[in-house]
Amino acid sequence: MILRPALVWYRRELRNGLEVELDDEGRILRVGRHMGLPDLYMLSPAFVNVHSHLEYRGMIDMARSSKYTDWIQELIWRKSGQNLEDVQRDADQAALENRATGAAWVGEHSDRPVSGRALQKAGLLGRIWQETITISNILESGLKLNSVRATAHQQGALPSPHAVHTVDADSLVTWAGKHLSIHAAESPDEAQYFSDGTGPIGEMIRRLGAPEWPRGTTPVQNLYRLGLLSKNSQIVHACEATVPDLDLLAKSGASVAHCPRSNQTLRCRPAAIREMLDRGVPVGLGLDSPASSGPIDFFAEMRAAIEVSKARGDYLDAETVWHLGTTGGAASVGLENWEIEPGNWVPLIGIEIDRVCELDEILAESTPESVQWIPPFDRDLRSFGPASGKFPQAE
Ligand SMILES: [Zn+2]
Repeated sequence: MILRPALVWYRRELRNGLEVELDDEGRILRVGRHMGLPDLYMLSPAFVNVHSHLEYRGMIDMARSSKYTDWIQELIWRKSGQNLEDVQRDADQAALENRATGAAWVGEHSDRPVSGRALQKAGLLGRIWQETITISNILESGLKLNSVRATAHQQGALPSPHAVHTVDADSLVTWAGKHLSIHAAESPDEAQYFSDGTGPIGEMIRRLGAPEWPRGTTPVQNLYRLGLLSKNSQIVHACEATVPDLDLLAKSGASVAHCPRSNQTLRCRPAAIREMLDRGVPVGLGLDSPASSGPIDFFAEMRAAIEVSKARGDYLDAETVWHLGTTGGAASVGLENWEIEPGNWVPLIGIEIDRVCELDEILAESTPESVQWIPPFDRDLRSFGPASGKFPQAE
């Protein structure tokens, strides 16, 4: 099959006058010039959503400005009143909405055992992290680790710690050197606790009788000290990362999941993405939870990435953000060759346009309704067998 789109995302640039030839399994055979009349759409590798919580789709009304600690308390309270059937329905809907917005791969944090089935039904690739929290019942942390392992097994997930402040150090250290994804350095409340022990997170840790963390540190420093920063680790948020933290991230090879809409809602500081990229830290974009990010819309997330970078005064342009949403984000979760080059197998999407224009205009005007999956990628992405073999599905 030969595709002749008006615009192609090729080698980190928007190009025209190119055609792309695919074999029946979607592998790219050739990228070349063409002189004919193009079809009016933009061709791009599908998006990679590096951080997600599908099961909170039903709480999308919570995506309004609030303090992180107030928000998480409401989330915990509302979760306690949910039944598993409703949560499965929410996760299924969220997975289909990821599909609709053009995401082919989802890095999912899961609490209840619903995400595996949701990703499967939507025909999406991905990896599921079974979230572990130990401080809510610190005397039985060993039992908790075992029960999380069992739930993970049910849905093809890997156990992973939820956050530095919700897992005790003795449990955290069991992940040293292993694959993990962890929320860290997200909110000012968290930074305050690690700095001087005060604030709502300190109060919570003491109320639960959980062990305290050393003062005058940061979550990232503690992860490094415990051996949890490596090329196998993904740090979610890192809004509060200090300059020494950024150096530790770069030195260790850890990647960062950037979730700008969630950060805006929960009044978190804009993450230092430009500084991370300058240091070679792999960064991807995450749609995070609908309960903090709102609608599952990759274009809205990319626009927010630009907006928060402006707020920091170190502007990320549309090209950089598109790269983070596709090839760069893919590399940050270990998916190599997620780009339009001969020999690669990469799911492709078409984005409807009404004229040939610049990337920032496409970004400003697109919505999930603009996305069409290019055949054969409109079928179950897990059905490609050897073609997709090198892309990990749920482990
Ligand atoms: Zn999250």
